[in-house]
Amino acid sequence: MGSEITLFGPYSVPLGGLVCLNSSFINMPDKSLRIRRNWVALSRRARELRFIAHGLWDTNHIVQAHLIPMRRCNLACTYCNEFDDFSKPVDIDVVLERVDHLHRLGATLIMISGGEPLLHPDLDKIIARIRHHGRLAGMITNGYLLMPDRIQDLNRAGLDHLQISIDNVQPDDVSKKSLKVLDKKLQMLADHALFHVNINSVLGGGVKDPEDAMTVAKRALSLGFSTTVGIIHDGSGQLKPLGQREKTIYHDIKRLSQRNFAHFSGFQDKIVDGKTSEWRCRAGARYIYVCEEGLVHYCSQQRGYPGKPIADYTHDDIRREFLTEKACAPMCTVSCVHMTSLIDFWRAPQIHKADPAASRREDLVNIQSAGH
Ligand code: SF4
Ligand code: SF4
Repeated sequence: MGSEITLFGPYSVPLGGLVCLNSSFINMPDKSLRIRRNWVALSRRARELRFIAHGLWDTNHIVQAHLIPMRRCNLACTYCNEFDDFSKPVDIDVVLERVDHLHRLGATLIMISGGEPLLHPDLDKIIARIRHHGRLAGMITNGYLLMPDRIQDLNRAGLDHLQISIDNVQPDDVSKKSLKVLDKKLQMLADHALFHVNINSVLGGGVKDPEDAMTVAKRALSLGFSTTVGIIHDGSGQLKPLGQREKTIYHDIKRLSQRNFAHFSGFQDKIVDGKTSEWRCRAGARYIYVCEEGLVHYCSQQRGYPGKPIADYTHDDIRREFLTEKACAPMCTVSCVHMTSLIDFWRAPQIHKADPAASRREDLVNIQSAGH
């Protein structure tokens, strides 16, 4: 959710989710759930492997799209720039049209995000439509509204991946996404969820006690979930080094969750050290962010460009953006885009420059000031 990024793992949910298979739930409530869960995981794994092969073979489709059906959130984390407390849910027919078009653009994984997506009254229909098209359905939530029957609804709708970020152990002025509040929700997920669950802990920003991230990670693993750690970036999504204490905890958590994909990438370690990275951001092509107004943006931190309605977005746009260099890439901390872009790290250099002047929403453009 919001402005945290994930350093390694299933997606925050980026492409890591396509390879992180969560079949080792420890707190098994009963044998029948275990069998169903393993069966669902196997089927998900088969689809993910097929999508990875397709992603490697063909560059002219989206790998991951973030879709915002609801900007309103029931919380108000002070570091977050991705929510409001008043907007209405996007009409379900409009959201379904957007899902249909993402399917036409070949989107492998559609991550429903917000705001808080569980506030959308027709969330299950959105998930079911994604699965109807054979795509992977993911969701990032603060978890507050999860209940056993709601989790069963998500099972029935066909959710593949769910991520919750937990910012601290005790709620404070910065964030109420706290283990103390959410632990019973995690237990519910362990007892009922058939989908893959990732718990993201965070470091940096306004997190008072970095040890909390380790407590959250250990609890997630004890329940059989995968776990990742993210850094709360600054308001523009740009690089900010961690202190020594945070760095030590980051590396300890990384050792704890050895299975996660991003361990193969030095990008995360560079973020922790506050160092720039050389990489080709494929935002606008392999990754897109579709806001509640239906506009395509590079990412949550570069909203405004290309600023084109998703209904008008074409494979020509994908081809152009694939080859467009983003000035903000060296200082970028948006891990999910980096993870998604990894699939093409060895491909052609980027020959175009992003043109913020072409944006339809100049009030939102950040890219001209980023990267400096
Ligand atoms: S819970 Fe809401 S306010 Fe907090 S980070 Fe997520 S979207 Fe932002
Ligand atoms: S490099 Fe820029 S456009 Fe790409 S993900 Fe990072 S902030 Fe977004």
